Amino acid sequence: MYEPEPNRIKGEPMSTKTTDAAAAVTHVRGAFERGVTKPYAWRREQLEALRSMILDNQEILERALFRDLGKHATEAQTTEIGFVLTELDHTLRHLRRWLRPRRVAVPLVLAPASARTVYEPLGTALIMGPWNYPVQLILAPLIGALAAGNAVVLKPSELAPATSEVLASLIPVYLDERAVTVVEGDVSVASDLLAQRFDHIFFTGSTAVGRIVAKAASENLTPVTLELGGKSPTFVDDTVDLVAAARRLVWGKLMNAGQTCVAPDYVLTTPRTADVLIPHLRRAIAEFYGEDPSLSVDYGRIITTRHTERLRDLLDGHDPVIGGRVDVDEQYVDPTVINGVDPDSAIMTEEIFGPILPIVHVADATEAVRFISARDKPLSLYVFSDDPAVRRRFLRDTSSGAIAFGVPAAHLTVPDLPFGGVGASGMGAYHGELSFTTFSHAKAVLSKGLIPDTLSLVYPPFTEGKSAIARRVIARTSPLLGGDDD
Ligand code: NAD
Repeated sequence: MYEPEPNRIKGEPMSTKTTDAAAAVTHVRGAFERGVTKPYAWRREQLEALRSMILDNQEILERALFRDLGKHATEAQTTEIGFVLTELDHTLRHLRRWLRPRRVAVPLVLAPASARTVYEPLGTALIMGPWNYPVQLILAPLIGALAAGNAVVLKPSELAPATSEVLASLIPVYLDERAVTVVEGDVSVASDLLAQRFDHIFFTGSTAVGRIVAKAASENLTPVTLELGGKSPTFVDDTVDLVAAARRLVWGKLMNAGQTCVAPDYVLTTPRTADVLIPHLRRAIAEFYGEDPSLSVDYGRIITTRHTERLRDLLDGHDPVIGGRVDVDEQYVDPTVINGVDPDSAIMTEEIFGPILPIVHVADATEAVRFISARDKPLSLYVFSDDPAVRRRFLRDTSSGAIAFGVPAAHLTVPDLPFGGVGASGMGAYHGELSFTTFSHAKAVLSKGLIPDTLSLVYPPFTEGKSAIARRVIARTSPLLGGDDD
């Protein structure tokens, strides 16, 4: 079992490490080129080793998450450690099936022949993570990369230094250091890494840095998965149980002190429903975190003083109906609700990423749909309505990475649902089998014997007879000759 250096437990500040990005990439690429990562047995062994790494070191991971984010051990389990273990178990259970070539039908004109899709590893992958779920968002993509047989460079966020340090210390002990390496560091290290050639870049972070990543990747035509952020709206109407809706909203908004990419960013509702909802939100906050959440061990802290100041500035000019206290030195922000927020105010133009919930008034669901559609496509959209017509309208008339009815943030725990954004909230998706295919190339394989040479019909010279057959028979069944099977 890994023993962390004593000074890390005590919490001394860490220096930013710089590592030779080029050397790290060359090192793991070598393992990929030697074929180390391709066998099924290697992939399985690595996934099992990752499982042992987590199980052997749960407390160390919990402590690191507490130091970085004030995250309670239970929340660390439910949203990070347990999440990764579930993904691992799901992958170990299904990997052999996912690896099987998938046969597909061949058009009549090619028969006899066989066709199949074979999944091969992409090569060397870079996984860059953010600070808000620093265990989950490095290790969950790693599961997909290993399952697909890739070599991997991991770059945890420098803003969660305790977790970055623990991952950098544990991974070489448990995983094959020939093929998996951790590069720690700040933006300059991230930039050095992005200057290298990779076969896939899997980035989780802000939309602004996502653009930088996409630009760097384009130099080498490297495919990217961009798991980005943005503002996830929530619509609430008075057809639902507003007591239960308030509890769900408070839970989704305040886990990790609001620093969750899929947290409900703001609420759209009528002024009348807002008036009923607000006392229920107040009660739910008190029930979860006590009358003074700053005293609650269950309530997290903001990652840095800079982010705390950013949140304080977002509150400028607003008069919260719940909370509103900010203590920059303690990196603390109250669970805060603001009612009747102007859609043009700063808090409605950038992702909040903190425990502040603005309520924007709309007349009805139609106006809410229009409001959402006029803005960037969100990562998630939440709808609290028992009216089937309203639910259908949101499903049909809005676009978002995910839509969830009645519960925020929980969709990402369903392994078989794609997790990813659309438009400004990202491109590509993962979790479950999709993590495996994201890090794989789906290679088309066609196999046709040379004898009998059934293709002679399509060879020149074209005769009247061949034309007649093409017109009457082949063109109706073969896409190769312009026909259509549908
Ligand atoms: P970030 O974009 O600032 O940083 C993410 C990573 O990029 C870090 O490893 C960092 O070192 C690196 N980086 C930062 N600036 C860089 C630059 N100029 N050039 C190259 N690399 C750079 O994001 P963050 O602040 O760590 O995380 C918060 C954001 O991530 C929010 O927008 C949130 O919504 C989003 N997020 C999305 C998901 C998702 O799954 N879609 C999950 C968590 C967080």
